[in-house]
Amino acid sequence: MRPVETRVLVVDPDKPDVAAIRYAARILQDGGLVAFPTETVYGLGGDATNPRAAMRIFEAKGRPPDNPLIVHIARREDLWLVARDVPQAAQDLVERFWPGPLTMVLPRTGMVPDAVTAGLDTVAVRMPDHGIALALIAEAGVPVAAPSANTSGKPSPTTADHVIQDLAGRIDLVIDGGPTPVGVESTVIDMTSTPPVILRPGGATREDISEVLGEVMVSPVALGTKMPLSEGVPRSPGMKYTHYSPDAEVRLFEGDPRRVVPRLQAEAKGLIAMGKRVGIMCTDETKGAYQGLSVLVKSAGSRRDLSTVASRVFALLREFDRDGADIILVEGVPETGLGFAIMNRLRKAASITR
Ligand code: AMP
Ligand code: MG
Repeated sequence: MRPVETRVLVVDPDKPDVAAIRYAARILQDGGLVAFPTETVYGLGGDATNPRAAMRIFEAKGRPPDNPLIVHIARREDLWLVARDVPQAAQDLVERFWPGPLTMVLPRTGMVPDAVTAGLDTVAVRMPDHGIALALIAEAGVPVAAPSANTSGKPSPTTADHVIQDLAGRIDLVIDGGPTPVGVESTVIDMTSTPPVILRPGGATREDISEVLGEVMVSPVALGTKMPLSEGVPRSPGMKYTHYSPDAEVRLFEGDPRRVVPRLQAEAKGLIAMGKRVGIMCTDETKGAYQGLSVLVKSAGSRRDLSTVASRVFALLREFDRDGADIILVEGVPETGLGFAIMNRLRKAASITR
């Protein structure tokens, strides 16, 4: 693709500058691409009613063409523009979670082109909870298709710098609104089946969703195990691709920290002996255990505060690359609340899970 000049505008999320938002919205209306912060991660936005803009998103990210985009709206009632036959359960979820990190898959309307849904007859839609995202979408006056603003396969971007690392020269504008608060992407739930199925765990927890829906299923792909390409088209097409991978190899250690820490120490020693530069992503509770080793140690936060771990996990994977790690050994976290989404991302990032 022909390189473009990527501008960067710094905008206050609590009081978005009107002129900056207008400038960005005009780019969207003209079919251009704008990366912007949401409460989950940075999104790469294009006009969701314009097939050419959608195609540019796929091209800029190097995204496989059969992996559909999430459509973002600025008002709850705009759901009806892009989705039809919305069941009561979906309306209940809107009441509880929007604006917020929950994406619903529903039958689509004619407003959403094939280029956005990768030809599926459903659309994935959400209303983000972020001052800049909401102001931008409202000003553009159209639903905005926005996958995470990273090169396909890389860790998702939680700062404007991450976006620039991946997409400079490929998109028109980055709105820098500081780090994104949640740090993992939205939960994707398929509302076209009964009971509804969580296709991707994310910022809205399974526990909170169950409170509204009662029964909810979890797709096997949502656990984070990799699906071989030979298994054909899964329910959520994005699930079959490599994801969230830094340049360094990731090895994930699951289980009780009392057993995991000694295994991780032994693995690190073996790798150091082979001349490898080893990174360890641990938690506040365990970081002291790695002090004697010549490794890069980074804590993602306390095991008792998984919202902090979620907000840091992608940035840390990128930091290990920046600091030259060959291999990152990662401690798993408990799979409750946001831990379900964190472990999904880590399993997909990992080449080996023990
Ligand atoms: P991202 O690009 O990180 O925003 O991821 C979007 C996720 O939503 C991917 O896993 C997609 O496969 C999934 N998705 C988007 N649209 C649909 C749809 N119509 N049906 C099922 N999954 C979808
Ligand atoms: Mg993504």
